[in-house]
Amino acid sequence: MFENDATRKTLFAELLLPVPVPRLFTYRIPFSLNDHVRVGQRAIVQFGDRKVVTGLIFHIHENVPKDFEAKSILEILDDFPSVNEMQLKLFQWVAEYYMCTLGEVMNAALPAGLKLSSESVVQIHPTFDLVESTLDFSEKESMLLKRLEQGTMTYSEISKFLGVKFIFSILKSLSAKEAIILFEEVKEKFKPKTEKRIRLHTKVNTPKVLEELFRTLAAKPKHEAILLKYLQEVPVLHDPEANRTGISKKALLDGDISESAINTLVKNEILEAFEIIVPRFGFADARETAVILLSEEQERAQREIIRSFEQHTATLLHGITGSGKTEIYINLIKKALESDTQVLYLLPEIALTTQIVQRLKKIFGASLGVYHSRFSDNERVEVWNGILTGKFKFVIGVRSSIFLPFDNLGLIIVDEEHDASYKQQEPAPRYHARDVAMIVAQFHHAKVLLGSATPSVETYFHAKQNRYGLVKLDKRYGEAHLPEILLADMSRERKMKTIKGEFSGLLLQRIKEALNRKEQVIIFQNRRGYSPMMSCEDCGWVPKCVNCAVSLTYHQFRHALVCHYCGYRENVPHHCPTCTSARIKTVGYGTEKLEEELNVFFPDTRIQRMDLDTTRSKTGYDSILAQFENGETHILVGTQMVTKGLDFDSVSLVGVFNADRMMHFPDFRSYERAYQLITQVSGRAGRRARQGQVVIQTSNPDHPVLNFILKNEFETFYQTQLDDRHRHDYPPFTRLIEIVVKHTDKRVCQDASRRLATLLRDALTMIKVMGPGEPMISKIRNQFLMTILLKIFRGKSDLVQVKHQIQESVDSLSKEKTFRNVRMIVDVDPV
Ligand SMILES: [Zn+2]
Ligand SMILES: [Zn+2]
Repeated sequence: MFENDATRKTLFAELLLPVPVPRLFTYRIPFSLNDHVRVGQRAIVQFGDRKVVTGLIFHIHENVPKDFEAKSILEILDDFPSVNEMQLKLFQWVAEYYMCTLGEVMNAALPAGLKLSSESVVQIHPTFDLVESTLDFSEKESMLLKRLEQGTMTYSEISKFLGVKFIFSILKSLSAKEAIILFEEVKEKFKPKTEKRIRLHTKVNTPKVLEELFRTLAAKPKHEAILLKYLQEVPVLHDPEANRTGISKKALLDGDISESAINTLVKNEILEAFEIIVPRFGFADARETAVILLSEEQERAQREIIRSFEQHTATLLHGITGSGKTEIYINLIKKALESDTQVLYLLPEIALTTQIVQRLKKIFGASLGVYHSRFSDNERVEVWNGILTGKFKFVIGVRSSIFLPFDNLGLIIVDEEHDASYKQQEPAPRYHARDVAMIVAQFHHAKVLLGSATPSVETYFHAKQNRYGLVKLDKRYGEAHLPEILLADMSRERKMKTIKGEFSGLLLQRIKEALNRKEQVIIFQNRRGYSPMMSCEDCGWVPKCVNCAVSLTYHQFRHALVCHYCGYRENVPHHCPTCTSARIKTVGYGTEKLEEELNVFFPDTRIQRMDLDTTRSKTGYDSILAQFENGETHILVGTQMVTKGLDFDSVSLVGVFNADRMMHFPDFRSYERAYQLITQVSGRAGRRARQGQVVIQTSNPDHPVLNFILKNEFETFYQTQLDDRHRHDYPPFTRLIEIVVKHTDKRVCQDASRRLATLLRDALTMIKVMGPGEPMISKIRNQFLMTILLKIFRGKSDLVQVKHQIQESVDSLSKEKTFRNVRMIVDVDPV
């Protein structure tokens, strides 16, 4: 009978779609897919009239929708689920906690390459060759592949070309055969990494010809040396097959062997040059077997962490800079992997460097996946799938790697846990990866290790309250000492006229001494560009952005004024538009100006700058680092990019600019930030036996924050911050929710924010509603901004209820006619 036949059951799926609508969507499952369909698979569906999108199957059920006819799923993309049920649970948690839609969470979690849509672009797989392939292709598939060899095509182009409306089954089949790859935008086009290699030309690859050759080469010792080296490295005489893979050109280029000599041999058809595609995460065979030796201090800390894990889900490792936290991490990672669980090692964006990846690669080989936003989307898909197939058991990654498809995590390390870049600001979900890590750990029954030299006030508080374990490491590794910190008193130097340009006499003196000792210097200034603004000397006029309420930053190398908020750019005016004076000068200074001045003071020194402007490309960043590491560069000037995750053995001096500005930023976290940044950058000085030096330029040498840094008194510093926070009802004593109201009309923005504040005050009597107020930057990209801050006392009100009320107030305001186009952004736990 039909009804008893399982394949004839009418099934429906609730789909999660990547659209900002706060609900799931019901689709019918075609009978033919009844046997394949699973929760967590990706399904292709039509959304709206024309659009085709990828959704995730959230539930499967038999309840026929009552008031509409469900459309059918077009295709299921996966044989096995791409997303597991724990992730679906996590997505739900994130959407509820951070007050956003499931679709927004899905967008943040899934790499674009997993979200095939009508906007997707298709290209031929770089390693695929239609002629050489032994696979079977249908007529349409071959037709498409031939066409794709001429270039990429969009979904709709293919559909038209093949005369088929829905082409996903064809794309799915080709993708499974590794004949094509899909990506979201044309700019993402995937380029494989290649390596130049050298082998013997087929003409000479026999012992007899070789012998002959050596006789003729005796007169050319350079060429002879190359050939000898090749035979030494590649045993072609015993194993002629070995010549096929040859040797990397880099490995051959060594000592006295020059590139031009190799090229000559290639030209003479003695050697042959060829290229191979290398796996993006390097070869797996280079395993470091050496045991990591821990110092006594590290041993103790490690034992304490393991003991702490027995009682706490999370433990804070508070270890001063240079105390060797990484070695402890490595040991704990090994242990977790040995007990057959997965490991996630989170690092802030700018701290995830080649240095740390290479080190871990040597130890963990092919089981290590790297998830980085500087990687292309295809590389991210590769990591995602690698976790699903079990290839990657250990992933090092930035914030979004918290959403990867782990099914058995044992350990999550959140290094530099205090770092603000763990918080996503734009777009939603505005999540904090450290805090989400706690939830993920609960789902997996995993442990979390938070590491920092300068823990955040919140984390330290939880550790002190015994909610987290606390382990300290307060000696530097080996013989290294904490650096000596000196304050350059700028007001006094100004009186004594010892300042040159922006540099104090003290700092210049120390730079000179360090360079004389052949040591390296880092100059830290957290402001890029040449100078933060220009101003008319006669009337005080300052050029401002036309779209934002900020002054424009002067960039000398572009000779332009640039807005750092919206990218707006204009030429430097010759005359002041208000008083026509020609005396327009720069005020203040950024990394670019410091670099210029250093070039004048130290003309024979190689100076490089590392900031957003010099590192836009992936290689820019790596090559600046490499040149500093191998000593080609003597002074590195940079923004906070230079503060994290880098260990340089011969840096003995760090100069810190503008400490005053960091401390006077109007935010309740500004002292904490200043303390963290200055301590972190100071930690770059003096890693080995030699004690480093730090010179901080300030006009407030008596400032309490500087004094805490000087004496390395974290504990007292923390206590003062905690007292302040208690007095003013800030976290950890309250939870904050910020609502930003945006509109192009200032009046509408103000009225809406006032109205919203009133609604909230009426609805939420147990919490403090602050504002509305104008934020420091009150207009960005032509949108006026107003903010409302809610302070929710811990334990006094139900957070779920509060959020529900906020959502209701926001929704009811958007229904009012005058405020229809007002945008309201809710940020839970703003940072
Ligand atoms: Zn003027
Ligand atoms: Zn702007």
